[in-house]
Amino acid sequence: MARQHQTVLVWFRRDLRLLDNPALYRACLDSDEVIPVYIHCPQEEAPWEPGAASNWWLHHSLTKLRENMRQQNMDIIIRHGSTKHVLKRLIGETGARAVYWNRLYEPALLRRDKSIKAYLTEQGLLVKEFNSALLNEPWETLKKTQQPYRVFTPYYKANRSRVHVGERLYDVPKVVFDRGRELESDSVETLRLLSEKNWASDFPNHWQPGESGALDRLERFSDAKVFRYALERDRPGHDGVSRMSPHLHFGEISPDRIWYVLENRAREEKKEPHVEPYLRQLMWREFAYHLLFHFPKTPGQEFNQKFENFPWREPDSHLYRAWTKGLTGIPLVDAGMRELWQTGWMHNRTRMNVASFLTKHCLTDWRAGARWFWDTLVDADLANNTMGWQWSAGCGADAAPFFRIFNPVRQGQRFDPDGEYIKRWVPELAQRNKNSIHQPQPRPIDPVGLINDNVDYPSPIVDLALGRHQALTVYKALKTS
Ligand code: FAD
Repeated sequence: MARQHQTVLVWFRRDLRLLDNPALYRACLDSDEVIPVYIHCPQEEAPWEPGAASNWWLHHSLTKLRENMRQQNMDIIIRHGSTKHVLKRLIGETGARAVYWNRLYEPALLRRDKSIKAYLTEQGLLVKEFNSALLNEPWETLKKTQQPYRVFTPYYKANRSRVHVGERLYDVPKVVFDRGRELESDSVETLRLLSEKNWASDFPNHWQPGESGALDRLERFSDAKVFRYALERDRPGHDGVSRMSPHLHFGEISPDRIWYVLENRAREEKKEPHVEPYLRQLMWREFAYHLLFHFPKTPGQEFNQKFENFPWREPDSHLYRAWTKGLTGIPLVDAGMRELWQTGWMHNRTRMNVASFLTKHCLTDWRAGARWFWDTLVDADLANNTMGWQWSAGCGADAAPFFRIFNPVRQGQRFDPDGEYIKRWVPELAQRNKNSIHQPQPRPIDPVGLINDNVDYPSPIVDLALGRHQALTVYKALKTS
């Protein structure tokens, strides 16, 4: 479109950044007046309204976005209420003739956006949508038969060959926003995103939400850590992964920017093969979005239909409660669950272990675990969380087969050999040596519990060998039924 003297609303959603923001950048190219808008309406995301940890992040990310905008003579109008209603009012107040936004892919949001687009178009407005969250759109990489991929490796090869990152790197545009002060706006505080309980009080020691926090983290990671990623990524006790996941989820940084920076660093250092393992993980994220887009029922239903009648246990059991609290008596599992509670994040190796333990040793419904993660993870992401849980439970696309059951003791010995991770999150076990730290305590055989070396730490809620045997029995019955 030729540059117009017409107002464009840029509807910010989970693209809370100024750099590499296609909707914002293109609006500034197309028009003389651009009005950034954020509309708070979590009900429209039902049944997956953001959880408490996500809301903590959103509060701080929106605050940072607004500060960042104000430093550049821009601002953002924040409103709450039904999106359609708010947009209608804003269009009336501003005379805007176009609305631009960056796409989201969750099933409820795709439906909502489709209906908003139809409504605006009917009203004679121009609507433009952009990709800001993925390296390729989920519908762009398909098999020769035009069917979606169900297995990661062929998807990875096909999607990798389509990556052209240079095309979507944009500078921070200059936004003309003279009328901003005339328009009413909520403050971030009025959205009431912070929980009244002080459970997230330690999060600021671990995270810096917002675009500058994302760019800082990328810089630190690209400096050297990325070259050791393949060696370190499975060590939960080491600082070997990027922790970019909440920044990616909230769109504070684009995957294109990450890819571009890391490929350039690798070229400078002549270490190209060393960054590939990291780029491959970004492709797992793309695969998760591909699956969610093509199989939109999977957040609630098993991808593998054979599991439809699997006799999962209800989550109201004492097993589930002990799992959420990190009191299972299995050291690696408890360390992971406590890391999650205290920091809003958990290492991938431990996520796989706690999920496998809940769904296999305890036979608890994977949906209950996914819900707990949804509420407590700062990076809770419908695509990644669904794929991670279904993969761990054995019922997902290209999942680990159900009969492959992680042994959390052996996993601890292999990936946390000195017990650094366990000692950090389960201080009751800090005095144990590296040979005994991964072993659950034997159940006390006398009522006083004299054989326990530390009575504060619980005995295991499940006997690992028995739990494994029960899971395999149920699975065999399912296979033959
Ligand atoms: P890095 O190892 O530094 O990887 C870089 C990026 O690649 C990540 O930020 C992420 O965007 C992507 N990535 C890495 N591993 C995976 C993976 N296995 N699947 C999809 N994308 C991946 N990730 C989320 O972002 N949100 C979730 O809600 C989520 N839930 C999960 C639940 C379970 C049961 C499991 C097993 C995994 C889940 N993951 C989830 C995937 C993975 O654990 C996290 O993305 C990763 O631990 C984030 O840390 P990082 O940024 O340091 O990752």
